[in-house]
Amino acid sequence: MTGVKLLGPVEFEVGEAFADIVDRVDGRPVFRPYLAGEWGRGERVRDIKSPIDLSVIGAYYVPGWGDVDKALERLHGSGRWSARNVPGERRIRILERLADLIEERRDDIAQALVINAGKPIKSAYGEVDASIDRLRRASLDVRKLIGDYIPGDWDEHTLESEGLVRREPYGVVLAIIPFNYPFFDTVNKFTYSFLPGNAFAVKPPSADPIPVFYFIKLALEAGVPPDAIALLPIPGKEAGRLVADRRINVISLTGSTETGVEVLKQAGIKQFIMELGGGDPAIVLEDADIESAAQKIAAGITSYSGQRCDSIKLILAEKPIYGELKELIVEELKKVRIGDPRDPGVGMGPLIDPGTADEVIEAVKEALDAGAALLHGGRKLGPNYIEPTLVEVTDKETLMRLKLFRDEIFASIAAITPVRDVDEAIEIVNSRRYGLDAAIFGKDINKIRKLIRHLEVGAVYINEYPRHGIGYYPFGGRKDSGIGREGIGYSIDQVTALKTIVYNYKGKGIWEYM
Ligand code: NAP
Repeated sequence: MTGVKLLGPVEFEVGEAFADIVDRVDGRPVFRPYLAGEWGRGERVRDIKSPIDLSVIGAYYVPGWGDVDKALERLHGSGRWSARNVPGERRIRILERLADLIEERRDDIAQALVINAGKPIKSAYGEVDASIDRLRRASLDVRKLIGDYIPGDWDEHTLESEGLVRREPYGVVLAIIPFNYPFFDTVNKFTYSFLPGNAFAVKPPSADPIPVFYFIKLALEAGVPPDAIALLPIPGKEAGRLVADRRINVISLTGSTETGVEVLKQAGIKQFIMELGGGDPAIVLEDADIESAAQKIAAGITSYSGQRCDSIKLILAEKPIYGELKELIVEELKKVRIGDPRDPGVGMGPLIDPGTADEVIEAVKEALDAGAALLHGGRKLGPNYIEPTLVEVTDKETLMRLKLFRDEIFASIAAITPVRDVDEAIEIVNSRRYGLDAAIFGKDINKIRKLIRHLEVGAVYINEYPRHGIGYYPFGGRKDSGIGREGIGYSIDQVTALKTIVYNYKGKGIWEYM
């Protein structure tokens, strides 16, 4: 490995509280699936690696279809009723208890995120704390669990009748989790699924499933009915049968657009929440506070090594401030320390997949061959460590042809381009196939208003870089970036079915007109 100094060999210890969910094979932990009532095993195991040095730190059993089938039968048979029959007020208390248990096991979970996901320590604790916060905000979701009363008075056919429209859980939600927020994403999807009374199955990411195994153990300890939850660690490429299963009513997927398309093809008629790929543009107006914009943009490029759906991948700046902005961003990128995420001074750790580092190198080469300039980075510092990279592409047509514009490269790489005015910025942003978020830096309210109206994205952040956080503000994409919304109170709509109840009182002489 060149360039990155590791603190030492990677060692992973399963927290004491989680010892009973693993087998020990040749001294290494092998994590067990949870089959809606019992911890299982499997027909084969798959290695779990640490991205820090790509060493194997454990393994997990892949359950055979017989076991998956058993788990789905339990979830759909008794589990969905076990979840629904817990009164709402007690479901909230289970979520609160889960938050407390996560708090008690904060260090174990953060350690798993550092070692298995390669998160810098501060980000790892940030993810655990966001998960606790999300659970403790669950009571805010409850306000969306309301219905309608519809008097029949306004149509001659429905006179002397009345209707209620209420929400009820669909039954079984399957959560498919990406590698970049394995713990928070599981907690978030579980919170909005279980709160209205759904049973919950989770398919963890193959690269870093350990935090999801920890989650299940704590959820059971918190009092989630044992037959209302399952952990099915099946590799994505083999998950077609699971996704298509008719006992699953809702699929909540966070992942790449390509996976989203595949799941939609396989799943048949179900409800979907799809939080898909993106990478966000930042538009900087000539009257922006350029120093603050540069700092925030650099954070948006480098946070978790650019492995965030809301990472900044494109900067469009009005010409009068373009030169100064670009220099300031480069200065900020130079300050970022790349290295071992176990070192508290490190800001950017490894990429989960060495293949992505190669993608960055290829994208830079393609851009330079097309006449772009490399302003910073562009070098590999190890198989899966890469410098934050900024590429200048001054020609709009060239930019729009490049891979780094057309696709989402899931690493710390962004392009910067000068624009004539906001119309040109709108044209460029809307020509991307993604539409997750956009950031605008500046003061001119007329320009900002125009951008807000025309940008085809799910969220616009003004004088801030996009950060979904715990979903206090809802987020989700348009176009190739997804279907539906995640965020407190906003996902309830998609995991609950509307049911209309009509009461007929005709001829009973009891009707009071409205
Ligand atoms: P990914 O490769 O698409 O995988 C996501 C999950 O889908 C994993 O659990 C994966 O399993 C599974 N999967 C893959 N193919 C599948 C199939 N055919 N059927 C069922 N499941 C399948 O994405 P990732 O690399 O983990 O995560 C990064 C992506 O997520 C980026 O594109 C990012 O933008 C997006 N993301 C979006 C948001 C948002 O809010 N919009 C938030 C975070 C991340 P395996 O791991 O076993 O392959």
